[in-house]
Amino acid sequence: MIIVMKPGSKENEISDITRVLESLGLSAHISKGTQVTIIGVIGDKRVLRDVPLEMMPGVDKLVPIVESYKLASRTFKPEPSIIDVGGVKIGGRELVMMAGPCAVESREQIIEAALAVKKSGAQVLRGGAFKPRTSPYAFQGLEEEGLKLLKEAKDASGLVTVSEVTSERAVEIANDYVDMFQIGARNVQNFQLLREVGRLKKPVLLKRGASTTVDEWLNAAEYIISEGNYSVVLCERGIRTFETATRNTLDLGSIPVIKNSSHLPIIVDPSHAAGKSQYVPALAKAAIAAGADGLIVEVHPNPRCALSDASQQLAPDAFDALCKDISKIAEIVGREFKV
Ligand code: PEP
Ligand code: MN
Repeated sequence: MIIVMKPGSKENEISDITRVLESLGLSAHISKGTQVTIIGVIGDKRVLRDVPLEMMPGVDKLVPIVESYKLASRTFKPEPSIIDVGGVKIGGRELVMMAGPCAVESREQIIEAALAVKKSGAQVLRGGAFKPRTSPYAFQGLEEEGLKLLKEAKDASGLVTVSEVTSERAVEIANDYVDMFQIGARNVQNFQLLREVGRLKKPVLLKRGASTTVDEWLNAAEYIISEGNYSVVLCERGIRTFETATRNTLDLGSIPVIKNSSHLPIIVDPSHAAGKSQYVPALAKAAIAAGADGLIVEVHPNPRCALSDASQQLAPDAFDALCKDISKIAEIVGREFKV
């Protein structure tokens, strides 16, 4: 349920309601819009049966939230959220480009990648250090050493960073090095891990699982937000279908669906959807045309030698050409992307 306050309601009216809710063991999540303030009520609503909340000063109306997720819903927060990652704003008019290699492999590789993607217009550097590989014998990432190199690349380029965390131990380590945690497709329903990143205040890039519905995905976001961390950005990266021509089937439809159901920004990963570098630009451009707030693209200085996902990573010149195209499409869809 949400409590919609009257326009111009006072701080003490909001805090009185919060106090009543908390005294009953409920939690109150406040969303201040330009027009009205909304209080999201989380917990067992049966305790409110005899409490005339609608009579309290400043209250306009009580509205039930029909979705299973609450705080991630547009009912709770009608205005789009803008998430700040070390000064980079995601969800505003300006598109955000995250780019970098699948995995951090060496100092030279990550610094070269960082400088190249920055030159093309990227604002965020990606690089995996804890790699969730299908085979236990495949390259598993450099772990803390990789995160140290990612931090060096941040310092050398001025880009903010995102890196995947695959366990609570990884969260603890990565917390000192990165600006944004990535929860990968395989961990979107690892509820302990979601709660863990929810307890920290660092922004989270939450990928969709290969077999997660939009509803399940938004409930995963709810796990993070309900712990107090509102800085969640969703990432569509393709789902598993009968089609095998691409690695995953990019669900472009999820972009307008998310925009309709949630206030959270959504970006698209065309690299893990395509699986082949030649298909990446088309999917990337389609995603921006469909209303995505940005992209996360795998870029490697020398893709053929990459230790993971070699077939889908773009070389820096292909990435540069893509950024130029994205900047043109941005204009058509009322967004902005500076190259
Ligand atoms: C990745 O970003 O390198 C990755 C493993 O992505 P996903 O979780 O989408 O497969
Ligand atoms: Mn990858």
